[in-house]
Amino acid sequence: MYPILHVTTLVIASQKGGVGKTTVAINLSYSMALRGQKVLLVDTDPQGSVGLSLSRGVRERLGFYDALFGSEKVEKLVLPTRLPEFKLLTSGRAEAFTIDYSLDEFTEQTRITNIFGDLEDIGSELIIVDTPAGVGGITSAVLAQANSVMIPQQAEPLGVRSVPQVLKAIAAIRKNGAQLGVAGIVMTMTDPRQRESVEAESQLRSALPSGIMCQTSIPRDSVFLRASGLGVPVGLLSH
Ligand code: ADP
Ligand code: MG
Repeated sequence: MYPILHVTTLVIASQKGGVGKTTVAINLSYSMALRGQKVLLVDTDPQGSVGLSLSRGVRERLGFYDALFGSEKVEKLVLPTRLPEFKLLTSGRAEAFTIDYSLDEFTEQTRITNIFGDLEDIGSELIIVDTPAGVGGITSAVLAQANSVMIPQQAEPLGVRSVPQVLKAIAAIRKNGAQLGVAGIVMTMTDPRQRESVEAESQLRSALPSGIMCQTSIPRDSVFLRASGLGVPVGLLSH
């Protein structure tokens, strides 16, 4: 295998839950892999939503948290998928550790930086990281060593309020020396027939500096629900 010189790590994060992070992470990873990029999708949500969504039965598999708190070598926990370009690291057995294994901030950051350093050597060009809600704790350590962050934002009234909070947290992480850039804020679950949705989107677009909002919005569509119900990326649904 030829060494890949530059690996990009893109974190999908937001203040709130249920805004479409996991949906974006899975479908973006899958579509980039379909286009030929070598992609590794990493789930850092202790609830393990990527594992559940992509294939049943991954609950018992070792993953990210087993590497973080245990002595497992992370590169050995990466799972292949049917698409050779698409690899997966599930969150693993978070609940086996999180009660007894709290790490101090420095140790946590060091271990996470080492984990992602090791993951950079498995031959993927793009690492996409799904996260739990919020930008503190482990997510803040993940962000500190990443190249960029994408922020899904649900098109709903008041949803707009959580954006400055996330941007502030990112600014603080950057102040500590991180290289983290904002890939964009992406509107999710937009619905042109719903006034609240349209207003939320235009409010956000006019409030934020141009360029920070992704031009493409992700429409609310039952196809996403159906896909996660069946445990596949939307691209794998047979109509
Ligand atoms: P998060 O990871 O931020 O908690 P999810 O990606 O799990 O959010 O999405 C929350 C719920 O909304 C899931 O049931 C998912 O299937 C659904 N969902 C996400 N995006 C869309 C969309 N664009 N249209 C319809 N349903 C969606
Ligand atoms: Mg999720």
